[in-house]
Amino acid sequence: MDFACAIRKNETLKSGYFRVVFDAPGIAAKARGGQFVHIRIPAMRDRILRRPFSIGDADSASGALTVVYKVVGCGTEELSVLRPGDVCSIMGPLGNAYTPPGVDTFPILVAGGYGSAALYLVAKNSPKKGLLLMGARSREDLILADAFEQLGFEVRISTDDGSAGHRGFVTELLKDAVSGHSPEKCMVYGCGPTPMLLALGKQTLELGVEAELSLDQHMCCGVGACFACVVKIKDPSSPDGWRYSRSCKEGPVYNAREVYYG
Ligand SMILES: Cc1cc2nc3c(=O)[nH]c(=O)nc-3n(C[C@H](O)[C@H](O)[C@H](O)COP(=O)(O)OP(=O)(O)OC[C@H]3O[C@@H](n4cnc5c(N)ncnc54)[C@H](O)[C@@H]3O)c2cc1C
Repeated sequence: MDFACAIRKNETLKSGYFRVVFDAPGIAAKARGGQFVHIRIPAMRDRILRRPFSIGDADSASGALTVVYKVVGCGTEELSVLRPGDVCSIMGPLGNAYTPPGVDTFPILVAGGYGSAALYLVAKNSPKKGLLLMGARSREDLILADAFEQLGFEVRISTDDGSAGHRGFVTELLKDAVSGHSPEKCMVYGCGPTPMLLALGKQTLELGVEAELSLDQHMCCGVGACFACVVKIKDPSSPDGWRYSRSCKEGPVYNAREVYYG
């Protein structure tokens, strides 16, 4: 489960965003949409903790494993300067996965920020082409729209500052996306900041649409040992009606019906 993976390429997608492709046949062969990898970044000052990233793409034939990332701190900064031939220790694939869309499923993908990377494999493996609702702070933070369009998905955009698409939250696009389809044929797949996902989950319950949400939390071990990444899920047998779940092991993908909304 722990592989030494050489970088094939590490390129700038747009300012602050990168795409790294590893030679990782052992991971690419098993990867499913929604799973993640835990990467030890060699030059990082804090070398103990790995960094988790969604599997952005995986090709079992070539052994290529793609991760799309935003530089936010020391780990991602160090990752961004690695070059072809540099080697990272990668654990994966980790976590559960989204339920793949069935032949009759109309997939509605809802992404905030880097969340579109986690949803790419769902779109790639979906029998039916659907919709991607993509939300970001501003147009500079919109990534991968063209990749989804190339797969035949329609992309609808929202930005907080109105610099592209609808001005407002991406969840405001959902009702319209579902209309015209029978709710039982739709399946919503969400990945993004937790407040966005909680709002999305509640909305899908109101609309009667099945939904799965990737609750990405800060994590340490990535394999269920340290309990740093717990999330609250419903548990009718507990006096408070909820229990903690390790998002790295039992998640990161949860059905919207399981999520505890407080
Ligand atoms: C399951 C999972 C999948 C992820 N997939 C991706 C991905 O595909 N692409 C991507 O760019 N990022 C992804 N992330 C987030 C990524 O792990 C963090 O951005 C990364 O660990 C930051 O490392 P750093 O050393 O650069 O930043 P640090 O120096 O550790 O932190 C810098 C800043 O980033 C914040 N941060 C750190 N971890 C997270 C996190 N998990 N969520 C939100 N904020 C965080 C910190 O609070 C701090 O403000 C994912 C996280 C999880 C848990």
